[in-house]
Amino acid sequence: MTRTLWRLDGAHATTLAEPIRLAQGLRLHLEHTELTTVLMQLGDQQQAYIGATGCEGCAHGRCTPGCYVELLRRLLRACFDASTLCAVAGGLARRPYRRVALAWPTAQTEPLTSLRLAAWPDARLIVHWRGSKRGIACAALLAVGSDGPDPAAMLRAAHWQTWVLPGRLGAKLANGSSLSLLPFARAWSHAPTLLWPQPSELLRHDISPPMHSAASDANGAQALGTLVSQLTATASAVAEGLDTF
Ligand SMILES: [Zn+2]
Repeated sequence: MTRTLWRLDGAHATTLAEPIRLAQGLRLHLEHTELTTVLMQLGDQQQAYIGATGCEGCAHGRCTPGCYVELLRRLLRACFDASTLCAVAGGLARRPYRRVALAWPTAQTEPLTSLRLAAWPDARLIVHWRGSKRGIACAALLAVGSDGPDPAAMLRAAHWQTWVLPGRLGAKLANGSSLSLLPFARAWSHAPTLLWPQPSELLRHDISPPMHSAASDANGAQALGTLVSQLTATASAVAEGLDTF
């Protein structure tokens, strides 16, 4: 058993052919092991990653029977029109994140798939999932650079409870936590989900987000989520082949 990091290519709203099967598969996955989902924003590009417990053979493409990563790969293959997992050796590149917030779901929490990561030119969103007999729990971390809105305010607008981390600790956790576990996971009432790039059309429509209006942030995030689910032919993978994050 070893923690492994994977670049998730080709998986987004418009290539998701089997959403219910994906939710069921992720739920089953979490009954046995944990899962970390990551979405990174750099400039106008986004790239998704997955952190999961794998086997000694993952790195060589020779997984042992029952390897969780191999099962996850099969699930993705069955649910998306085209998606691949590419091993990322050595973890994600360190970024100069200035503001970092940890977050936990509340009863009213909205899924972070609708959080507009393009509001920041440099951002990393991490959601760590774990399961138990009682259900699914998760915790999130949002790290951003100097520019853009307050990350904690954006999370609170989506009804997440937040804790702003002090600079050095925040940057350390943000740059390392895709391969470690986030603390204090709390119960999650929705279906588990992956993070994936938002359509480029939406990114282009992004105008300066409000800096102080939490309510309008929430409305914007909801509207974005609706729009993402409605877009079909116009969407495309934003960050194909990006390894430079
Ligand atoms: Zn494996």
